[in-house]
Amino acid sequence: MEKDREALGLLFDHLDIGEDGVLRIAGQDCAALAARYGTPLYIMDEDRIRERCRSYLGAVRDAFGADGQVLFASKAASFKHIYEIMKEEGMGIDVVSCGEIRTALAAGYPLSKAYFHSNNKTDEDISYAMAHGVGTFVADNEEELYAVEKEAMKRGVTQKVLLRLTPGIDPHTFEAVATGRVDSKFGSAIETGQAEQVVKEALALPHVRLTGFHCHVGSQVFDSGIYLRAADVMLSFIAEMKARLGYEAEELDLGGSLGVRYVKTQPVLDYGSVIRSVGAFVREKCAGLGIRMPRVSFEPGRSIVADSGVTLYTAGTVKRIPGYKNYISVDGGMTDNVRYALYGAPYTVLPATKMTEPRTMKASVVGRCCESGDIIQEDVEMPASIRRGDLVAVLTTGAYNYSMASNYNRIPRPPVVMLKGGTSFEAVRRETLDDLVRLDV
Ligand SMILES: *Cc1c(COP(=O)(O)O)cnc(C)c1O
Repeated sequence: MEKDREALGLLFDHLDIGEDGVLRIAGQDCAALAARYGTPLYIMDEDRIRERCRSYLGAVRDAFGADGQVLFASKAASFKHIYEIMKEEGMGIDVVSCGEIRTALAAGYPLSKAYFHSNNKTDEDISYAMAHGVGTFVADNEEELYAVEKEAMKRGVTQKVLLRLTPGIDPHTFEAVATGRVDSKFGSAIETGQAEQVVKEALALPHVRLTGFHCHVGSQVFDSGIYLRAADVMLSFIAEMKARLGYEAEELDLGGSLGVRYVKTQPVLDYGSVIRSVGAFVREKCAGLGIRMPRVSFEPGRSIVADSGVTLYTAGTVKRIPGYKNYISVDGGMTDNVRYALYGAPYTVLPATKMTEPRTMKASVVGRCCESGDIIQEDVEMPASIRRGDLVAVLTTGAYNYSMASNYNRIPRPPVVMLKGGTSFEAVRRETLDDLVRLDV
């Protein structure tokens, strides 16, 4: 049965097929959703997002005790309602810009629980974040540390700061999203001695309180060994700083990156078991090094929201070039999902209204933008009967789709519709043509 579901592309347990062959998400009929809200349409299963928050928090607290934290990396999906969910679920958050801070603020999210990332915070960013009481800044480098000190001094406050370090680990994932290596644009390297230098400087700053260290190894990590290696390097560094500088970090943030399933060849990762194995390792390692166990945080973004999301499109032109290739054009594209164009990201694409028909035609599913790279996915298996007006669903679009959306070709961005307890509502409305000209003076 599970095999049959996989063969049909039903990668997650909230997906099934109605008697009429139409894809359902959390029991709700895709065709009805498309009729009500229009296409392209971002759908997110709110119950599934909340369940994920709870299981993450439960696992982190089991593994690290009551002060273990889960910070939702909100760049994965940033809009007001998501921050409301995070507030209600007791999640921390990461923010990377004033825009994300402003959105969290609009949701009434308590910013003292927010961590401010980014590899280049401007003076304006720093001032805005401090004015609104963002709890912790994650300083990427030395220069930023001084900029934070300057602003904190001006305001007469002491700012909590974590230092972002690069543990020198290549997570064997896409090069473009590998961020934990020594030559990364993010963080200060442990290996080169630069990290220690920055720690010394941070400790000398009167308005900065260095609470500990942060690392983030990359993206789409399926191997828990990566986290053990990162924790190993980071804890050894904490022990070294204790021995050499008499400074013992209170907090260790191990970043995000846990993998999600885009296609059936990728595994279903048990996040709880990854976290528990890191917990056991950290306890043992701290005991061995003779250091206190720091407060441990994880920063999952993708793995909180990605598989709650489905994008629905309406097929337009179906073009067959005999002997070459078939194309199915949809009413969205790189404006609502740029990830294939950006780095060849895989996706599962389904004939949402013809789920039970044999899929005998291979086609590229492409968008409607004026770019030949505007592709959602290539070599998708579709029913030969697919035609204009049929619905096409793309799975696992809850992360880095809406948040990366653009208005290229002056295409309005789709709404985000939440599914909750058998009902649905717009969390973000559809952009109108008037919205598109509202900034033009
Ligand atoms: C992007 C990012 C995350 C989240 O990564 P995911 O792959 O979405 O889990 C966490 N921490 C930092 C610093 C990031 O830049």
